Amino acid sequence: MTDYDKKSDLDELYQDIIIEHNQNPQNYGDIPNPTHNAEGFNPFCGDNIEVYLLVDNDKITDIKFSGSGCAISQASASMMTDQLKNMSLEQAKKVFQEFHAMITNDTGFIEESPILGDLQSLAGVSAYPARIKCAILGWHTLNSAIEDKKGTVTTE
Ligand code: ZN
Repeated sequence: MTDYDKKSDLDELYQDIIIEHNQNPQNYGDIPNPTHNAEGFNPFCGDNIEVYLLVDNDKITDIKFSGSGCAISQASASMMTDQLKNMSLEQAKKVFQEFHAMITNDTGFIEESPILGDLQSLAGVSAYPARIKCAILGWHTLNSAIEDKKGTVTTE
């Protein structure tokens, strides 16, 4: 599936930083013996993401992802891995909460959240409900991996 058919109405979302992460995803690949992993699927867009973690003493010592799908799903997963690597699970949870608040435009969201880093470039997605599922897919998959749920998680 390509993004070309949808590109015209999404132009304003495609900031340079999103394009960069989509073209050169960070931490892309797998971890041979992960302590946690899970697979996620967004049926509305056809995105899929697999997340691999190495957790040692509640710290994420390594995190990788693989998958395919639209630029937003892949860029969001790339930024997520970049941001969470070497964080504690507790810190990672805080980043997820901030990201979730930003992407769903909860009133509690504080602009310029330093723990979000590049993820802030996805703030515009909150105006496009269908794209929120794309942006959050990697995170649902991450949570599923950490909670050690079996099977494939979907955005529904
Ligand atoms: Zn998507």
